Amino acid sequence: MGIANNLLQIKSALPEHVTLVAVSKTKPVSDLMEAYEAGQRIFGENKIQEMAEKWEQMPKDIQWHMIGHVQTNKVKFMTLFVSLIHGVDSLKLLQEINKQALKNNRIIDCLLQIHIAEEETKFGLDEEELASLLSSNEIQELKNIRIVGLMGMATFTDNKDQIKKEFLHLKTIFDKTKKLKTENCQLETISMGMSGDYQLAIECGSTMVRIGSSIFGGRN
Ligand SMILES: *Cc1c(COP(=O)(O)O)cnc(C)c1O
Repeated sequence: MGIANNLLQIKSALPEHVTLVAVSKTKPVSDLMEAYEAGQRIFGENKIQEMAEKWEQMPKDIQWHMIGHVQTNKVKFMTLFVSLIHGVDSLKLLQEINKQALKNNRIIDCLLQIHIAEEETKFGLDEEELASLLSSNEIQELKNIRIVGLMGMATFTDNKDQIKKEFLHLKTIFDKTKKLKTENCQLETISMGMSGDYQLAIECGSTMVRIGSSIFGGRN
């Protein structure tokens, strides 16, 4: 099949309002270039170091999305170029992103990660934590970030009903939270759905899917 073919096939089946993030973690630049040449401009990585190395080597019209968990002390290595950070789940991290963005004279878009899965290991805020974060005084002061949506990951399971329930949960939280509009917070994006579950995610209201192995093949 090949990367370009996989990509074009997936893209052609996506509704127009859904953005495709090509998740290229662990893959060599040559693989990413194949997707780039087929028209892909948004790539998702989960390690800051790896993303920075690829950014240096690749064309500068690419939008780089950080989809992994972000450690506060590493934010500075991506502030120059990152276009969207998906996995933000604390005020402390938002403050650091804001601080680094200010230094670079940028405004950086962020998604807040919501914990929707059953597994304890997945990062993210619950509904209450989200509400209290968004209503805090501290967040109003962050002029160099914009919260543009929510992100979630479903439980790793074959049980479609459960996955659907979790996606709908995120959509419900999104719809409630969308009403709140402040200078640095206006929700437009729901990032949910990966290779195994993106069609279901779209049915449940996803506007951004993060697809890796169905484009680039399996990872070791
Ligand atoms: C790896 C990863 C993906 C892509 O997973 P695939 O199953 O390969 O499509 C999506 N989202 C996050 C957060 C990931 O870490």
